[in-house]
Amino acid sequence: MPQILDGKKVRDSILAEMKPRVERLAEAARPPGLAVVLVGHDPGSEIYVRNKVKACQELGIYSEKITPPDTITTDELLALIAALNARPEIDGILVQMPLPKQVDAHRVLLAIAPDKDVDGFHPFNVGNLVANAPGPRPCTPAGIVEMLRRSEIKVAGKKAVIIGRSDIVGKPMALLLLHQNATVTICHSKTANLADECRRADILVAAMGRPAFVTAEFIGEGAVVIDVGINRVTDPEQAARILRGDSTRTGDFHRKGNLLVGDVHPLDTGNSSAFTPVPGGVGPLTIAMLMVNAVELAERHILGRTG
Ligand code: NAD
Repeated sequence: MPQILDGKKVRDSILAEMKPRVERLAEAARPPGLAVVLVGHDPGSEIYVRNKVKACQELGIYSEKITPPDTITTDELLALIAALNARPEIDGILVQMPLPKQVDAHRVLLAIAPDKDVDGFHPFNVGNLVANAPGPRPCTPAGIVEMLRRSEIKVAGKKAVIIGRSDIVGKPMALLLLHQNATVTICHSKTANLADECRRADILVAAMGRPAFVTAEFIGEGAVVIDVGINRVTDPEQAARILRGDSTRTGDFHRKGNLLVGDVHPLDTGNSSAFTPVPGGVGPLTIAMLMVNAVELAERHILGRTG
């Protein structure tokens, strides 16, 4: 039986380690401070932001939610960020994506001071990631590295295949695994013979946003399969095709009206040695790593630590 990699357990241990670090900062000067900017009322974004603020509260991190209307202009948002950059008690600034169409998201991202870039998306920090220099790392791939480490899954010398080349998951994942001495292949929508490429992986990371796309045919003997995908399936026929008569999950689908599924087929993980479930695998790690980034930025600001 493959090992099920429990993201909630990893999240809990990461957060437990952050608690004394937050307390130390609070005793030395002040708690870490995180500003979360949520433009408009996208329901998905509202849930993400609520969970981020809740995680801050539980750890004793000061958080501030700023909610400009969705009519905000790029210049107004830039001014708001400049004001947050100038406030010494704010260590991290997070602008929840997506932004409304009239806002230039790239300029907004560039405006966040790199030493307050809690998501690790600023080009300055992307450079640090490429160079393996200290700096905040994108939370989801950083969480996956933590999960592999804490599950004692060796990375050095292994073949890692990543499906997806986005700036927030696929590319940083590839760089982080490369820095851990894996031999890394990045696959994407134009990759030829995708299943063949994937079958060679000792560690397969699926980050494509295609429900239940990866099946046994993609998974080599003994591979560790990391499923980043979070897809909500609402079409009953598609749900039935994925669930293949699994009565418990079909019941859940009919009750909730949707099925939360990863990029890996939940009933077809082949001969993998370990995999992350959806939900409960990679998902919980992202907010935990956001807290780590907030604490580390605050340690730099308050204690002058750069490691
Ligand atoms: P994205 O849409 O920006 O990128 C998807 C990538 O997958 C692209 O690079 C594309 O080339 C590749 N791709 C798409 N279809 C493909 C195909 N048929 N064959 C091969 N490659 C294909 O998505 P993203 O932001 O990187 O997110 C990927 C998934 O991860 C989504 O489901 C998203 O919801 C999820 N996600 C989860 C978390 C988390 O906390 N667990 C965080 C971020 C993203």
